[in-house]
Amino acid sequence: MVRPSEPEFEQAYNELLLTLEDSSLFQKKPQFRKLLPVISVPERVIQFRVVWENDAGEIQVNNGFRVQYNSTLGPYKGGLRFHPSVNLSILKFLGYEQTFKNALTGLSMGGGKGGSDFDPKGKSDNEIRRFCDAFMRELSRHIGYNTDVPAGDIGVGGREIGFLFGAFKRYRNSWEGVLTGKGLSWGGSLIRPEATGYGLVYFVERMLQYALKTDSKDVFKGKRVALSGSGNVAQYAALKLIDLGAIVVSLSDSKGTYVVKGDEGFTTAEIAAVADAKLLHRDLVSLTSTFVESKFTYHAGARPWTLVGKVDIALPCATQNEVSGAEAAALVAAGCRYIAEGSNMGSTMEAIDVFESTRRSLPEGIWYAPGKAANCGGVAVSGLEMAQNSQRVSWTREEVDRKLFEIMSTCFDVCVETAKEYSIEDDASKLPSIVKGANIAGFIKVADAMTNLGDFY
Ligand code: NDP
Repeated sequence: MVRPSEPEFEQAYNELLLTLEDSSLFQKKPQFRKLLPVISVPERVIQFRVVWENDAGEIQVNNGFRVQYNSTLGPYKGGLRFHPSVNLSILKFLGYEQTFKNALTGLSMGGGKGGSDFDPKGKSDNEIRRFCDAFMRELSRHIGYNTDVPAGDIGVGGREIGFLFGAFKRYRNSWEGVLTGKGLSWGGSLIRPEATGYGLVYFVERMLQYALKTDSKDVFKGKRVALSGSGNVAQYAALKLIDLGAIVVSLSDSKGTYVVKGDEGFTTAEIAAVADAKLLHRDLVSLTSTFVESKFTYHAGARPWTLVGKVDIALPCATQNEVSGAEAAALVAAGCRYIAEGSNMGSTMEAIDVFESTRRSLPEGIWYAPGKAANCGGVAVSGLEMAQNSQRVSWTREEVDRKLFEIMSTCFDVCVETAKEYSIEDDASKLPSIVKGANIAGFIKVADAMTNLGDFY
């Protein structure tokens, strides 16, 4: 069932299991323990060959995957990742997490994930188009708007979704809402590009309001926020934070980190320059005319967490396992009291241990929100895109943004209430554990539905 050759998947499996066991769930619902071995095996894994031609006319081959994890709550739903590190262990961990995350949105979506070890960096638009066409030539046999609806993830943005959607339409002769993250003129939803980053900030806003016992909309004013990553999630999280009066003190990519020197954070113009550079697959370090030495320091090969000085909030938004135990301890020592993941499984098990033990030991506690709760805004608006496609309508920006806010807000409340309901004695007097609340609430929703559908007995 759980094979050590799949370290990322094993990590995700163990993290869920440990939090479920450290609660009263299995005492209250002992039948769910039997479900774990069932729920942890994907319903189906598709692996295929992707053959395409580069601009020099040479044949290239990559591995393509789609992990169709769980379809109990709706069609499989989850992104496609194009990155050289992609393998089955990574896609299984992402699909497993996605199953519970999608349950937390309250929408009808199962869980899945897919992608390829194709590296879009250094490729021309024509090469990316030819790759997407070849990838969809096989994937189109396995997906459909009632079966499996992929979206973007690392390395897959609006350009790639366009090429993939066009290829699906040609191969299947069908215009259908089979992908989300589409362009606005061909079935996309307003706010989908922004959704994960905005949703993350909305989740943290609710967390701050709850912790500070206020309804004020000004909870971000003057707060120093460390961000990692500089892609889709980080860019829109940064823009929303700036809008709400926070000071964004860091951004990073796979080559290094920029940190502000003083109290003036990143500006919207600087984020726009990052967005332009990343569309062309350029590294942050190339932006020397934007990130001038008087305001920023650059740290080659480093992540932000030990470099940012005093911070109130940390939002990992790059990739899995991007916060180690030592970095988590450094964040706590720097005054950070709120951590929420834009990335999936952004924190290592050691980092989660640091955050959770600090929650128990510090008088004022600490708030740690895992990706499956804090970044579910992206897939939530994908769900709203599916709803609009089914009805052949387009909702306004304000309408989608309001629904996104409500979903994030409800998700936070569900995590808090579930954590309280299933906490064991030792935890009962402490701040609610958001990671436990998220894991238990997502698990119960899928487990109950699987029971009703006769998927385990
Ligand atoms: P992008 O491809 O737009 O950006 C990824 C960013 O992370 C880039 O800055 C990239 O650096 C950096 N990065 C990637 N791999 C590494 C690595 N191994 N070490 C250091 N930095 C790295 O992806 P997204 O912003 O869409 O996704 C970021 C995270 O958010 C992922 O974990 C993803 O699964 C998660 N997520 C995304 C959602 C979405 O809607 N897009 C939804 C929910 C979660 P560089 O530019 O140098 O490659």
